[in-house]
Amino acid sequence: MGTAKGPRPTADNYRGMVRNYIGGEWVNSTGAESQQVINPAVGKAIADVPLGTAEDVDAAVAAAQDAFWSWRQTPPQQRVQCLYRLKRLLEENHEKLARIVTEEHGKALDDARGSVQRAIENVEVACGIPSLMMGYGLEDGAARGIDEDLVRQPLGVFAAICPFNFPAMVPFWFLPYAVACGDTFIVKPSEQVPLTQQAIFELIAESGFPPGVINLVNGARTVVDAILDHPKIRGVSFVGSTPVARYIYRRASENGKRVQAQGGAKNVLVLMPDAVLDKTVPNVMGSSFGSAGQRCLAGSLAVTVGDRDGRAVKAIADAARALRVGNGLEPGVDVGPVISEQAQERILASIRRGIDDGARLVVDGRGAAEKRDGFFVGPTVFDQVTPEMSIAKTEIFGPVLGIIAVDTLDQALKVIDDIPYGNAASIFTQDGKAAREFRYRAHVGNVGINIGVAAPMAYFPFSGWKDSFFGTLHGQGRDAIDFFTDRKVVITRWF
Ligand code: NAD
Repeated sequence: MGTAKGPRPTADNYRGMVRNYIGGEWVNSTGAESQQVINPAVGKAIADVPLGTAEDVDAAVAAAQDAFWSWRQTPPQQRVQCLYRLKRLLEENHEKLARIVTEEHGKALDDARGSVQRAIENVEVACGIPSLMMGYGLEDGAARGIDEDLVRQPLGVFAAICPFNFPAMVPFWFLPYAVACGDTFIVKPSEQVPLTQQAIFELIAESGFPPGVINLVNGARTVVDAILDHPKIRGVSFVGSTPVARYIYRRASENGKRVQAQGGAKNVLVLMPDAVLDKTVPNVMGSSFGSAGQRCLAGSLAVTVGDRDGRAVKAIADAARALRVGNGLEPGVDVGPVISEQAQERILASIRRGIDDGARLVVDGRGAAEKRDGFFVGPTVFDQVTPEMSIAKTEIFGPVLGIIAVDTLDQALKVIDDIPYGNAASIFTQDGKAAREFRYRAHVGNVGINIGVAAPMAYFPFSGWKDSFFGTLHGQGRDAIDFFTDRKVVITRWF
């Protein structure tokens, strides 16, 4: 199982070499190396992505730096006209973009549609910059006849380093706000899923942004390090795994940049004895197995409180068995492939580890992995998990749900506390007091009450706590305005 499947033939819809978009032009990377972009549902190459260089980053920064002063002086009300055009183009191309997301990432088409929608919503929020970016002032604030005002100003060039699991959405947690605030921007997509941003940058090119305001550089670690070390980049937004987030935070901070680094997760869904099971279980399914568990908000542990007759476990297991695994482009598919053969092997190893550690495998998704084409793992459910087991502590990032049984809400909250991550946690209950206790005490950045995926809308900030986030200001919403601007206080006296 999970053995090497040999060299991958190229698909009919092969799209050639991915390009960079720098200074308003499509350009080839200066790098000689590349890697294949694989459609994980069929295991075939659909493009090649260049593993870019420090020179690529230099060129993008130079273009962004050149564009900055004039863009910064463009009135906010005019800057957002480009975003309005981009919003319209994204809407017109919604379905096409969602299909590209599914093709390169694997998630079910409905999931992909939702993620494109969230990208659009972030553009909508950023269109409010003329109001959002306002400062404040106080006449006679310093003394009689001396006024004091605060204005927000953009800083310069920013960059986003993105993960594979949301090819359309994650760059849009940052990009629309940065450029609306008057900064200029560089996107570095995940090298595993560069095609959605190729298509989105075709739309950016049509939206009327001056050359250099938004740039695209493809690549992997070399590009990341060049971004982190570039003296002209003022801030970095990162989303990805915790070890890399920690590295990004340290290195970019040492180089004097603003940093927001969102990391991995191990999210807990607490099922109280009074949870309405027929409504709760579909939420658990969506949370744990949607996008094949490859979401930073995926529920990867369910903690049942007082489930003495095993009713909750049985309902979860039955529903997991009923999910349909397949190519996310096919109608009715609930669970698509995982991103790569390597990810598939890692997830299968976690399942073996769970069995070895003594958890009870109640739904075994490994059969799906025997399919020769594509990288599938079916929904997998473990019962009798204990907090010290590896499957309870590590981020599996696949369709694997562990169930821990406890007797009290206190014990459930302790499970959450003991996990080093703190992205999200949900409670399912009809008891307002239990829900209030949960939202008050859970050490996480996002809480769901009878909601399985506690994903904040674009006008709220989004990020986790503990090892799920390094930095201060989160993505999206008002935090984004604070991240992409600095505050200047002006004290005025006229003689
Ligand atoms: P990843 O950390 O492997 O890669 C993220 C980005 O970092 C990519 O652009 C990649 O090119 C770059 N990168 C990878 N290794 C690097 C290294 N050693 N040095 C420098 N750069 C490096 O993450 P991924 O596998 O693409 O994404 C999945 C992870 O992202 C999961 O852990 C998931 O929880 C997390 N995630 C978190 C959030 C959040 O909001 N907290 C959202 C989405 C995904």
